[in-house]
Amino acid sequence: MSGSNMPLSPLRSIMMSVLLLLAVPPTQAQTSVTLILTNGKIWTGNPQRKEAEAVAISGNRILAVGSTSEMLNLKQPETPVFDLEGRRVLPGFDDAHVHFYSGGVNLTGPQLRHSKSEAEFRDTLAEFARHQPSGQWITGGTWDHENWTPARVPTRELIDPVTKDWPVFVDRLDGHMSLANSVALKLAGIDKNTKDVPGGVIVRDANGNPTGILKDAAQELVERVIPAPTQDDIKKAIHAAQNYANAQGVTSVQDMSAAPDIFRAYQSMLHNGELRVRISGHQPLPNWRRLADVGVRADFGNEYLHIGGVKGFADGSLGSTTALFFQPYLDAPNTHGIPSAELVDPQQMWSNIEGADAAGLQIAIHAIGDMANNTILGFYGRLQVKHGERDRRVRIEHAQHLLPSDIPRFAQLHVIASVQPYHCIDDGRWAEKRIGPERAKTTYAFRSLLDAGTTLAFGSDWDVAPMSPIMGIYAAVTRRTLDGKHPDGWVPEQKITVEEAVRAYTTGSAYASFEEKIKGTIEPGKLADLVVLSDDIFSIDPVKIADTKVYLTMFDGKVILGPQHGPYKKLPSGLLLRP
Ligand SMILES: [Zn+2]
Repeated sequence: MSGSNMPLSPLRSIMMSVLLLLAVPPTQAQTSVTLILTNGKIWTGNPQRKEAEAVAISGNRILAVGSTSEMLNLKQPETPVFDLEGRRVLPGFDDAHVHFYSGGVNLTGPQLRHSKSEAEFRDTLAEFARHQPSGQWITGGTWDHENWTPARVPTRELIDPVTKDWPVFVDRLDGHMSLANSVALKLAGIDKNTKDVPGGVIVRDANGNPTGILKDAAQELVERVIPAPTQDDIKKAIHAAQNYANAQGVTSVQDMSAAPDIFRAYQSMLHNGELRVRISGHQPLPNWRRLADVGVRADFGNEYLHIGGVKGFADGSLGSTTALFFQPYLDAPNTHGIPSAELVDPQQMWSNIEGADAAGLQIAIHAIGDMANNTILGFYGRLQVKHGERDRRVRIEHAQHLLPSDIPRFAQLHVIASVQPYHCIDDGRWAEKRIGPERAKTTYAFRSLLDAGTTLAFGSDWDVAPMSPIMGIYAAVTRRTLDGKHPDGWVPEQKITVEEAVRAYTTGSAYASFEEKIKGTIEPGKLADLVVLSDDIFSIDPVKIADTKVYLTMFDGKVILGPQHGPYKKLPSGLLLRP
């Protein structure tokens, strides 16, 4: 200050003293402390200081982390203090693999996932249809015939009698097969004479007539006649999806299906301040030139909306027997799976991978079967040879069934394993009848991958599976299948620790989107995205992790209320985010 050495008049001196009393100390003058959380059990993710008690937040950033008394020293007159009452705090969960829009559509569509029989499936669909205007397409559903007794793939004959007035195209929860009714098949022009498409199957009965089941690429035959949703339709689904995400403690998602119309909706929501999760959107690998042509590279965007990844497919799924293996399926010995439409011509897929990498984009490829994984690892190895080492962070999505000899290659080639632990306790009920005990040993091989030095990024694959990090952590730690038949874990040697699972769902997934500098841990300067849990998952019996509830979700320094979040109503309204 220029006049600081000048003598002050008595009146001016008194005025200065009053001003000094009112003013905050100079170091905090620019930094207002907007919230202090005290008395928690905070897992910071920082290996130097893993546990802390309290955190001070300034705007949308973490200002400081430490003991309750240290943080209370930072309190300003207006700073609200919230007592966590000993609860466990983690960085906000970052789900590395979701299908956000279709998940949102399914939240508002027929709820077929939990049907236990053909009859229940049919009746639930009939009940939903009754409330729709006639002619309205009925989509979504995410049914799973593996839950039915008997576990039989449905046909159009089952649903035709109750859906005469509506075209129906409902998908299995893995998205790799869908059931059309006769109305939908007719609109799509599919009949006895329609030829199979590469990478897809039109399932037929003994007379050659389509049964209504379309697998993988064949699903497009119907999808292309379904009217495109409007921007308002899309935003409605995204709002439903992000409310669901927040209730699960998820504050970031990596959307593997951020098609242009969906990305446009995200952008509009960003401008309107409506995003309640951070979104990293991936574009289809075959469209990589669209990003390259405008100069977009990996890790472009801001802390709310992010782009620069491309997602490809190498094969299908285990549930649909389209995952690509070296050896045939035990229960379908005539097939060892099929390559995806992208991999039908491996040279074409390689040229997309090579082009996207040369353009500086990040590549993520879906691979389930051991042969699909082996092929993609081979492609990634070729990239290193051809384009040299760089921080490209290539990913394999699912990395589900691996040859033992391929496990060390993930770390050697710096391939991120973007995996979904919930699938393990779900598919684990029936996977062995399909692939046998030997291949099961390196299925969802999280322990082996970590021990080999692989970066694991956890996700859900929602809405193939619930977007519940709590259930994902439970699955990775216990490997107890949903049918209760493996109380000590299915392939128990592949269990990992709670901390390893938490890390994969926070720092691991942040790394997988190049965003580990801004999120994934609770450290000064990081985004103030936190989740507070009802129980301390680090100390309770792992079996009880499944019963843990999300007590509070904080996004961008503000609290998003969920059903159990009543106590937080006493926070100033400026700190609350409306859904
Ligand atoms: Zn997926």
